[in-house]
Amino acid sequence: MTVVGQHTPVPFLDLRQPHAALESELVDAFRRALHSAQFVGGPEVSAFENEFAAFVGTEAAVAVNSGTDALRFAYQALGVQPGDEVLTVPNTFIATTEALSQAGAAIRFVDVRDATLTIDPDAVAAAVGPRTVGIVPVHLYGQMADMDPLLEVAARRGLWIVEDAAQAHGARDKGRRAGTLGELGAFSFYPGKNLGACGEGGAVSGRSGVVLETVRRLREHGQSSKYVHEVEGYNGRMHAIQAAFLRIKLPYLEGWNASRRRAALLYRQALADVAEIRLPVEAPGATPVYHLFVIRAQRRDELQAFLSKRGIGTGLHYPVPLHLQTAYRHLALGRGAFPVTERAAAEVLSLPMYPELTADQIGVVADAIRAFYK
Ligand SMILES: *Cc1c(COP(=O)(O)O)cnc(C)c1O
Repeated sequence: MTVVGQHTPVPFLDLRQPHAALESELVDAFRRALHSAQFVGGPEVSAFENEFAAFVGTEAAVAVNSGTDALRFAYQALGVQPGDEVLTVPNTFIATTEALSQAGAAIRFVDVRDATLTIDPDAVAAAVGPRTVGIVPVHLYGQMADMDPLLEVAARRGLWIVEDAAQAHGARDKGRRAGTLGELGAFSFYPGKNLGACGEGGAVSGRSGVVLETVRRLREHGQSSKYVHEVEGYNGRMHAIQAAFLRIKLPYLEGWNASRRRAALLYRQALADVAEIRLPVEAPGATPVYHLFVIRAQRRDELQAFLSKRGIGTGLHYPVPLHLQTAYRHLALGRGAFPVTERAAAEVLSLPMYPELTADQIGVVADAIRAFYK
């Protein structure tokens, strides 16, 4: 048994723990896949799609090879055309916007709200123009964007919504789950996500119908049936073995999310008296699932270095807003274009957060933060 002391290292993330706990089930699943020799698509994938749709609370889900594919197929299935403009935020992982460009849409960034760092519905309403076709709210760090005003603008202006729910499996906004409110929801099963494969994976959630059927075709070379190609598509299928692994993990997800929420509460109690930091804000009616626990800190870089010296892992989500990345130089958006996002980029610090994080480890992190500001 390890004794937790003042200088015990606390990793930012430790994916060995949850997998060690499930090792024999995962190995059995691998053996089953090996014996069935059905490696791509097939019954494991269909079964996972049904189980994941039930978890999300949508009629259906289509499993794909990554969250990026999920986004790209979602945008494309909704019919984006060159010149169409889609509104989203600059404080996200580049996959959100990369997939937009790849689907042929033009990216139009709007700023976020300071309290939650999710898309600002007023900025959205102000930015809708004649070429705007859709909105992509990112449910950042596990907290859903404020969906009601977005749904209202979308309905009024005839726009679609794709929820980027890559960080928000099981999150709720006024009781409604991530991935159920837009036309489509896009999920990632990258290993570090709240539900992670032992490799890559993703899914699109939505109502059964033409749009989701198009997603299904896009993942399989645009096929409607074998060697019948309605359109060009991609090789974006989920591997059967990943579906098998995900089916083992999915029943634990609700409990893991509850553990994350408990860890967040302990952080809040332990850090309540530290005036130099701001704790993450839970919006009214929101039930976040804490993919990340992100504080806003004065002298952030120094604090991160101090924690690192004590063996405490942290992350920055995200240090450089997308509009300031070289990849988006052509958008000609300089510093000052999105002040809330830019200020956040200089202050955010993601603390260790995972279901297995113990109260003692949280105490070690909180003590170290307090020691830094003393
Ligand atoms: C992880 C992530 C993605 C991309 O998912 P992949 O499975 O890595 O392709 C998209 N958007 C956000 C917000 C993410 O965090």
